[in-house]
Amino acid sequence: MSARTSPPSKPLTDRIRPNHPPYGLADYERHGGYQGLRAALKMSPQDVTALMKSAGLRGRGGAGFPTGVKWSLVPMGENAPKQKYIIANGDEMEPGTFKDRLLLEGDPLQFIEGITIGGYAIGASIGYVFLRAEYVEAARALRKAIQECYARNRLGRNILGSDFHFDLYLHTSAGRYICGEETALINSLEGKRAIPRAKPPFPATSGLFGKPTVVNNIETLCNVPHIVHYGAEWFRGLSKGKDGGTKIYGASGKLRRPGAWELPMGTTVREILEDHAGGLRAGLKLRGFLPGGASTDFLTAEHLDVPMDFDSIAKAGSRMGTGMMIVLDDQTDVIGMVRNLERFFARESCGWCTPCRDGLPWVEKILASLEAGQGRPEDLTILRQMTRLLGPGRTFCAHAPGAMEPLQSALGHFRLDFERAAARSAAVAGGRP
Ligand code: NAD
Repeated sequence: MSARTSPPSKPLTDRIRPNHPPYGLADYERHGGYQGLRAALKMSPQDVTALMKSAGLRGRGGAGFPTGVKWSLVPMGENAPKQKYIIANGDEMEPGTFKDRLLLEGDPLQFIEGITIGGYAIGASIGYVFLRAEYVEAARALRKAIQECYARNRLGRNILGSDFHFDLYLHTSAGRYICGEETALINSLEGKRAIPRAKPPFPATSGLFGKPTVVNNIETLCNVPHIVHYGAEWFRGLSKGKDGGTKIYGASGKLRRPGAWELPMGTTVREILEDHAGGLRAGLKLRGFLPGGASTDFLTAEHLDVPMDFDSIAKAGSRMGTGMMIVLDDQTDVIGMVRNLERFFARESCGWCTPCRDGLPWVEKILASLEAGQGRPEDLTILRQMTRLLGPGRTFCAHAPGAMEPLQSALGHFRLDFERAAARSAAVAGGRP
């Protein structure tokens, strides 16, 4: 039985004790663990999925797709394929994003319980954790927890005396950003080159080895046991907005206390940056921020009171993405910052389609010239053209369009910085040849 008397307000990080090893199974269960799976096994799989829908759980990997809807797209019933898969996407390579690592290192059993419930809901008997290769501590914690779950009938055959069987495998990534795109991830898991597949078909109908597959983010799955244990209404009540639950928000940049915090979904940007991150370091002013990783549009100080939820940030002109902010201060060169991001995206292009493979290095080269005062007058026009030529619908996947988001928003919000850099370049004899 759970030792808890009232439901937690910070379900995801409630059991995480910094600088302590994660709980083993006995302690995990003493603190409410496995109540969710026990409850789920008494429900029909379809009812578990319906619960995710009514809880308003949206995917925490960046896109915010409703989890219950994704699960409900998997064919169920007698005519459905016998083999189905659930994959946890732990290939956390978005710059500035480190929330899934904290969850796996701090409470691996919470995640394992979540993916097991997900497997039950979609009728999958096999799950994979696709983990970023550098997450050595998380891999160690997961391996230990998986072993204990097999030894104590929380994984394997007839879990907790039911007729549900579920095996979980840990796979470490080949170490490329594109491996986190779900169809490239599936190719990688199949032993193929990690290039995205065309969608549709979506993995829900044709995924790993051509079978119905759900790919969920780690943070998303960590929410699942709590929703089943405490209910959809409780989950919705944790949030300040219409999407349910809490969110692990984070902030990096020249802040007094950069880090990550579990807060109600819809907490404002100001509260995250000022109350939790402690504001900017002495003498610095906020110029802008990327709301959730590098592949989002810059917002500015006028957006400080916008709630950090998927729809509010979209209305403000960006995307919440992973909810892990990167802050730009008034003494950091915005061109240098964007050049650094574009260097990352250029290096991580999988090379499959020409605009992305050739366009991103070109963008990086122009930005580097401007930063060094060696640009050309036409550079700003070319950069603006590139944001369209590499934008949505022009490439095979979302990698290059994502890479263009910080650039095109920087060209808008911080236009004068770019114009000054172009003018400075023109003043230097000849500029770039
Ligand atoms: P997407 O909107 O194409 O898909 C999101 C999810 O919803 C996928 O699982 C997809 O299969 C599903 N989906 C969407 N439409 C569907 C439909 N009609 N039928 C069935 N399923 C459907 O986004 P994406 O390309 O998977 O992800 C992009 C996001 O990933 C970006 O927001 C970016 O911020 C984020 N990202 C995160 C990281 C990280 O490290 N966490 C890294 C790179 C990118």
